[in-house]
Amino acid sequence: MKANCWMGKQKVEVRDVPDPQILNSGDAIVRITSTAICGSDLHLYNGYVKPMKKGDILGHEFMGEVVEVGSGVRTLKVGDRVVVPFTIACGACWQCRHQNWSLCENSNPNVALAEKMLGHSGSAGFGYSHLTGGFAGGQAEYARVPFADVGPLKIENGFSDEQVLFLSDILPTGHMGAEMCDIRPGDTVAVWGCGPVGLFAIMSARLLGAERVIAIDRFEYRLEMARQCGAETLNYETVDSVSDAVIELTAGRGPDSCIDAVGLEAHGDGLEYAVDKAKQALKIENDRPIALRQAITACRNGGTVSVIGVYGGLVDALPMGTVMNRSLTIKSGQCHVHRYMRPLLEHIENGDIDPTVVITHRMKLSDAPRGYDIFLNKQDGCEKVVLST
Ligand code: NAD
Ligand code: ZN
Ligand code: ZN
Repeated sequence: MKANCWMGKQKVEVRDVPDPQILNSGDAIVRITSTAICGSDLHLYNGYVKPMKKGDILGHEFMGEVVEVGSGVRTLKVGDRVVVPFTIACGACWQCRHQNWSLCENSNPNVALAEKMLGHSGSAGFGYSHLTGGFAGGQAEYARVPFADVGPLKIENGFSDEQVLFLSDILPTGHMGAEMCDIRPGDTVAVWGCGPVGLFAIMSARLLGAERVIAIDRFEYRLEMARQCGAETLNYETVDSVSDAVIELTAGRGPDSCIDAVGLEAHGDGLEYAVDKAKQALKIENDRPIALRQAITACRNGGTVSVIGVYGGLVDALPMGTVMNRSLTIKSGQCHVHRYMRPLLEHIENGDIDPTVVITHRMKLSDAPRGYDIFLNKQDGCEKVVLST
């Protein structure tokens, strides 16, 4: 089959690789019809999330048709159309039973490595480095899906791939980012980052009752999309201090909650950005937490900072004194996708959310390298690339 493979820093290649096989009785093989490129893929592409090996198959947002099932699979059959969550979860361990699917205790075969780097291991994931198990991803013609009775969501309503594909990751992720804010009527939520995840966080914050959403980015076309999703916007390149500007927009109090939908590759101006960049290059800091620092500083006393942007390791100059003295709550996590797929499918069916609005580019799987390039460089008004096989 053809698959998009990681071949080194900022290098991906669509190559011929062996077809996946059933390895365990609970596996299914899915013939992929649509897949997408995510901001999380850029962290792998740029070499910040490790370890990767040459030839690793990328991609964790995919859907398609079941073409083979293991002997133990009960709920899926050949011919079913499914969306596959990016987190791989067993459904039976303590964390899965508590609905913390991205913390599954059974799915990651590389626990020792994860424990060394993170203290404990989270779940496995598709196409997301050997830290999360080294599973082949879904930017491919086929994928092996472990625990097939647990993760995949059957699509039986005749909706198009584009309407349901993002249930695999970014729609649940944006939604979880907003849900972690415990929004109450009248609340103001600020969202750093107007990528696809930020846009779904904006839509979800509105859906969950936020009165105002303030969205922050520097790309005008992305800010325009945020406005279409119901946010007021702030171009951070037009102000000296982003936190001050956000505080001013909320009459001095600060937003009730702040969502970081940027993560470890935040861009910035001036000395702070230069120092973080230099420390990253010297490998004394893994991540650039520029948006996170601003979110913490801007948040109102007693408010919540919801971190859905991905971080990989150590950050410096995190204002912990601000967190403690101003009674802030920080919540975070890889998305517990399984929790949100069905309820969000209902929101799509009811017309509350139209996920297709984030799509700007439709390409073939064979165009994946060009897709990565334009998505990384925010060229041609690129917000989200969907690849079809
Ligand atoms: P993206 O690259 O399309 O969007 C990131 C946006 O942040 C860009 O528009 C960029 O201009 C903006 N940005 C950069 N620096 C900024 C700053 N200092 N202030 C404000 N905005 C800034 O990516 P995406 O697909 O939307 O993903 C966003 C983040 O969410 C990534 O870190 C991704 O890894 C993460 N993510 C997390 C999960 C999860 O389960 N928690 C799932 C999917 C994606
Ligand atoms: Zn993703
Ligand atoms: Zn589990």
